[in-house]
Amino acid sequence: EKIQIAPCELTLYLLTFNARHSYYNTIRIVMKQFEDILERIENPLQFLSKHSFKNLSVVKNVESTMEGLIAALKAILQEDSACGDSDVLIGELYALFVRFDELHEEEKKKHITTALHLISILREVNSRTAKESRDGDARIQDLDECFETLSRPVQYIKGIGPKIAALLEKRGIVNLEDLLYCVPRRYEDRRNISSIAAAAVGSRETVIGEVIQSTERRYARRKIFEATIRDSTGTFTAKWFHGSFLYLKKEFVKGRRCFMTGEMRGQLFGKEMIHPDYEFIDDRGEDDEFMHMKRIIPVYPEMEGIHKRRFRTIMNHAVNEYSHHVPSPIPSAICRRNHFISMADALQRIHFPGEDENMELYNQHASASHKRIVFDEFFFFELGMGMKKKGYALEKGIAFDTRHTFLLDTFYSRLPFSLTGAQARVIKEIMEDMNKPYPMNRLLQGDVGSGKTVVSMAAMLIAAENGYQSVIMAPTEILAAQHYSNIKSWAEETGVKAELLTGSIQSKKHKELYDNAAGGNVDIIAGTHALIQEGLKFRKLGLVIIDEQHRFGVAQRALLREKGFIPDVLVMTATPIPRTLAMTVYGDLDISVIDEMPPGKNPIKTKVFLERDRHRVYEIIRREIGKGNQTFVVYPLVEESESLDLKDATKMSQHLQNDIFPDYTVGLIHGKMKSHEKDVIMHDFITKKIHILVATTVIEVGIDIPGASLMIVEHAERFGLSQLHQLRGRVGRGDIQSYCILITHTLSSRDAKKRLKVMEETNDGFRISEEDLLIRGPGDFMGTRQSGIPDFRVANILRDGKILNDTRKEALCLLDDDPGLQKPEHRDLKRVLLRKWGERLELAKTG
Ligand code: ADP
Ligand code: MG
Repeated sequence: EKIQIAPCELTLYLLTFNARHSYYNTIRIVMKQFEDILERIENPLQFLSKHSFKNLSVVKNVESTMEGLIAALKAILQEDSACGDSDVLIGELYALFVRFDELHEEEKKKHITTALHLISILREVNSRTAKESRDGDARIQDLDECFETLSRPVQYIKGIGPKIAALLEKRGIVNLEDLLYCVPRRYEDRRNISSIAAAAVGSRETVIGEVIQSTERRYARRKIFEATIRDSTGTFTAKWFHGSFLYLKKEFVKGRRCFMTGEMRGQLFGKEMIHPDYEFIDDRGEDDEFMHMKRIIPVYPEMEGIHKRRFRTIMNHAVNEYSHHVPSPIPSAICRRNHFISMADALQRIHFPGEDENMELYNQHASASHKRIVFDEFFFFELGMGMKKKGYALEKGIAFDTRHTFLLDTFYSRLPFSLTGAQARVIKEIMEDMNKPYPMNRLLQGDVGSGKTVVSMAAMLIAAENGYQSVIMAPTEILAAQHYSNIKSWAEETGVKAELLTGSIQSKKHKELYDNAAGGNVDIIAGTHALIQEGLKFRKLGLVIIDEQHRFGVAQRALLREKGFIPDVLVMTATPIPRTLAMTVYGDLDISVIDEMPPGKNPIKTKVFLERDRHRVYEIIRREIGKGNQTFVVYPLVEESESLDLKDATKMSQHLQNDIFPDYTVGLIHGKMKSHEKDVIMHDFITKKIHILVATTVIEVGIDIPGASLMIVEHAERFGLSQLHQLRGRVGRGDIQSYCILITHTLSSRDAKKRLKVMEETNDGFRISEEDLLIRGPGDFMGTRQSGIPDFRVANILRDGKILNDTRKEALCLLDDDPGLQKPEHRDLKRVLLRKWGERLELAKTG
């Protein structure tokens, strides 16, 4: 009787294993494989040991067979570290069969017995690991099930009824996934709660006490709210210098008990905390006290109408029941390389850190839990971008011939200036793109006045030279008209035909234009977005240029595709984004930057004025008008109350006209006007019939008024830096020295003051955008929605820049191996990717 194990069977084992080892449910599969091989080792050994080792003399090849199998076991282990300390055991097992054939019979028996014992231990370790991992990520077998669960409404959670669900919805939390990703803003250490007597002066302490009184006091001219807190060892005073005293009064009712955390300070008559964090302990009994104390507790963003403890209890339910439903099928090799904990574990701990974890790290959003989740967020994003970049998702486009540049050369020769180095470089980049056989998707960044229009004209001439039509789209009709007026003269000089299409053009002209577009009798059309949305037909549309529009939406592209066009797209923006961020924000676009201003411009001088110095501002207006220059006065547009600002602006224009400058003409322009009304006003301003133009933010983007030398921004503290920079760019377009005055109305916040100071210091758009980003954080940077900054929920592009870089490397490395994520082991990865980013990155077609 001989035991034969065919080598090819073994190979097959390893092959099938290797083919599948990267599945995200690896562990489950590995366990199974492990178990199988273990059995293959055990069976012959058991056979040998039967009947007092009667078969020992019959069987040959034990050594080589065992070595092969144990090596296979080891190989599996190397593929996945989840098997705990099994590798030591396997090492021992292996040692038993080295030179086995040369051993004496008694030694052989001993080794076999030991081996069988080791195998039983291994089997136990293996099944324990398998069970653990079943409790973790690997428990989820079906992605569909995960996706379905995660998109269930929050009311699935115990403790969330319609009322709380409605409150959560206001914060954008609709389904279970939203809830799980609503992570703590910070953490509070309640592992050690001090008594008031023992709380050390000068250190941050948490105490529990009872409110014995609260009152509003007045010291000198200041109002202070005070609450006296007592425990069995002593009392201290909590103080507030600002905030809603009315609210505090309602909260700090005698007899209520609360936690209070803050720096304990010593003062003449005892201890005090200034602006402590606090949490009342009212809803006693119902929930587990250990959720709120004797541990590191999560502090969530303030949810209006939901008590902190209530929310924490809700989160506890959510995390316990659903954190393992978040699929993160990142290959185990990557997880191992980065020492990642499982996603379920990370979610659990990011909400409720363990007893002995490092709270500092948690508060810096740098714990292992944070890293795991941030990596996950970045990874799928980078993977999606990588796929696009690698051309995987690219479709066929127009390959423009860029060798013949007759029109371009004519254009250059007619320009009254020569291109800046940056313009020349950027035009070259665009030409290279246009030449490639798939659609250009490029972002052109350049500060206000850096000369983007010239660049766009060059691109349109290349298209025209190839017999293609171009459109240039602007967000407003005024801007479209301005583009047109620039382009028209250049077009005439080079012999191409340009036209303007706006809603206000009469229908007769309209029809003519439509015919021209469809018949190919016009090369360049300037207009608003309506250009591609309406029924306008082109004969051969080849290039779409979008000005000041942060993104060219998926919808627009789909629309063009429907009409049979896959044009090259160039997006121009004067909102500079720091390069680090741009890589991510516009990761699916290629970026060109004009980082050099045309020569001979005087930098605009900027100064902040307080409301009470308004009369001095009026003197400056008078002085500028005296020199023959013009002035803008801009009012902010607050989204909620456009009409309110309109009232401000209207009132102001009347006031200026009647009371301050009766000798000059004051005009008013705002977003509610019909476009032909706006055109009339702008025309009057350009022709200097109007000296002072009061405006809401309609003028923010693009308009050229060479005669305007003064930009006055009212309520400057309400604007973001980038917006202020845009506004300022409206002046300084001619040769005259220009000024920007920022009037701030209130005792504005520290952030606002910082912002305004930056404006005084620099004219550099990139620097300004960087500052803006630092002050406001990327989420707020430009309003997430329109800017196209991907909305990461936990990750922060600035804070987590290093992780972002690591993630990009891992993602690209994976794509080098499998560019289209087509390997079976990447199937789940791809499905999660498409769910997360498919639409946004237009990857859906590649599914
Ligand atoms: P942007 O659209 O980037 O704000 P524009 O294209 O409107 O800037 O250009 C601003 C002004 O600078 C225009 O009057 C334009 O004619 C002029 N300009 C553009 N490029 C140059 C250059 N290389 N040298 C001198 N002036 C230039
Ligand atoms: Mg422009």
